[in-house]
This record gives sequence, structure tokens and C-alpha cells, in this order.
Amino acid sequence: MAYDPSNIFAKILRGEIPAIKVYESAQTLTFMDIMPRADGHVLVIPKAASRNLLDADPAILGAMMADVQKVARAVKAAFAAEGVMLVQYNETAAGQTVFHLHMHIIPRFADVALRPHGGAMAKPEALGEHAAKIRKALAELPEV
Ligand code: 5GP
Repeated sequence: MAYDPSNIFAKILRGEIPAIKVYESAQTLTFMDIMPRADGHVLVIPKAASRNLLDADPAILGAMMADVQKVARAVKAAFAAEGVMLVQYNETAAGQTVFHLHMHIIPRFADVALRPHGGAMAKPEALGEHAAKIRKALAELPEV
């Protein structure tokens, strides 16, 4: 299926709707998920248009994964998480609801269950606080 530029993440990239931004590189943008499955849940999206992993330029995927690694390390540090989960859905049957490629990054603790996918909207103030913690961790991130 073709890429539809009217999707919500394309609108965020074009600045047409707001997002709580965490990190930006030449190739990607990272922002807070509006319905977080755990505190600190962020989304990394490539600036280049693709519907999902299946139609993405492999060079873009490579650059994206470098940024995913960076943000995942920062999210884990910011929330003192025991682990960090990456999730990426391709097409409706697999759970995809927004059709611009994105990677979910979710901090995890062994004894804390995730909230539902597409559940309650978080308060903007809480998302703002979480974003600030991740930005601080990014600034202090040691080399790999
Ligand atoms: P998926 O397509 O992988 O199923 O999920 C899309 C994700 O985007 C969901 O986790 C949902 O909470 C998030 N989301 C949907 N609409 C918006 C929005 O307008 N802003 C932000 N920041 N996240 C959104």
C-alpha cells in the first residue's frame, strides 16, 4: 500500500500538530507517545517517508537504528529501568495504527505490567517531565 502523507506523524514532522519532542537528528525525530504503555514510552520516526519497515530504504533503517540505540540507552538510564523494550508493528493485522514507520521504546521493570496499547492519554505535564528526564540522560550518555 502507498504512503499516505496525511498520517499524524507526517503532520508532526511538518509542524502541523504539536508533539513533545525528545531528540532530533538529521534522519530521525523522537517524541513522547501520547498514550504511553509505561512512563518514558517514546517513538522514534525517520524523517523520510515510509509506511513501515517493509517499504523503508535500508540506509534509512540503519541510521534510524543508531538513533534508536541512543534513545533506548537514555530512556533506560532516565527511568533507572531494568530493561527496555523495542516494538514495531507492520500493517493493521500486526497492530499498526499510524502508517509512518516508528519504533516504540518502552522502559521495563520485571514486576510492572504494561498499560494497554492505545489506552489512556497521558497528561501533557507528565509527558513534559518524562521528556525532560530523557533529554538530560541523553546529554549525559556515555560512549558505547
Ligand atoms: P502503532 O501504529 O505502532 O500501533 O502505534 C501508534 C502509536 O502512536 C500509539 O502508541 C499511540 O499511542 C501513538 N499516537 C497516536 N496518535 C498520536 C499523536 O497524535 N501523538 C503522539 N505523540 N502519539 C500518538
